[in-house]
Amino acid sequence: MDDLIVIKFGGSSITKKADNKFEMNYDILNQSAEELARVIKQTKIKFALVCGVGPFGHTNVKLYDLNSGIKTKEQEKGTEKTISDCNFVAQETASALERVGLRTKLVPGYVVCRQDNRKVILFDTEEYVKALHGGFIPITTGIMVKDKSLKWSVMSGDTVVAELCKQLRPKRVVMGTDVDGIYTKDPKVDLKAKLIENITKENVPLILEMVGESNSVDVTGGMKGKLEKLAQTLDGVPGEIFNLFTKGNLENVLLEKNVIDTKIRLWQLLKSFSI
Ligand code: ADP
Repeated sequence: MDDLIVIKFGGSSITKKADNKFEMNYDILNQSAEELARVIKQTKIKFALVCGVGPFGHTNVKLYDLNSGIKTKEQEKGTEKTISDCNFVAQETASALERVGLRTKLVPGYVVCRQDNRKVILFDTEEYVKALHGGFIPITTGIMVKDKSLKWSVMSGDTVVAELCKQLRPKRVVMGTDVDGIYTKDPKVDLKAKLIENITKENVPLILEMVGESNSVDVTGGMKGKLEKLAQTLDGVPGEIFNLFTKGNLENVLLEKNVIDTKIRLWQLLKSFSI
């Protein structure tokens, strides 16, 4: 779909993830909703929205031990609570968008997705296509979904982005987070971390060299792991990671104006990582 942009609001920006609180960050949510509404007035582009849930997901999953199969009554209850908390994030996001005049359609992950051992075995995009054609913005959060082996398992926001990329082939994916993009190191830990403004197939070896990782050595996690995962998620669709806290950034990114962030063009990267 050449007229579709997938937007991700990271859990780090729309929830109080950094403080590990079960709270929305309404300032950022409302600011983002206003900017999106301004863009929608100016373009014919359609938008699908994916939300990270921050502590509403992670903290619950840890607390109730929901990552390796649902076996006990406590875990059943924990699953229910996690689903209801993640749905709260979806509803609050939809309300923020509706308040600025946008029409939204909630598409819960457990309605469209089935997993087996935490891997997607079915992801039905029909609900998205219907919503988009009807002039609605579909909203999906990370959430617990039915799992063939584990009963229930976590489906992350990034999984939704990956499936939408694979199946709907949007024009772009823009991902808002709480830092300016991808850095050579975690910018919150290392003040010398440098923002990587462009990631292309050509400069990936250089980036890995900069962060001290060889392209040929199999390093799990770290920068290579991050890039590999991003490449898999985007599946060749151009991506952009930017700071959703900076006023005007969402609007400018969507209108393709200049923003200091990370732009990703990784068409061939999957092959070069041989995955
Ligand atoms: P979100 O919840 O917005 O999807 P994450 O919390 O998963 O985002 O990722 C954003 C966080 O990742 C940042 O707050 C940053 O501290 C951390 N981080 C770790 N390594 C890096 C890196 N190399 N570049 C950018 N951010 C990084």
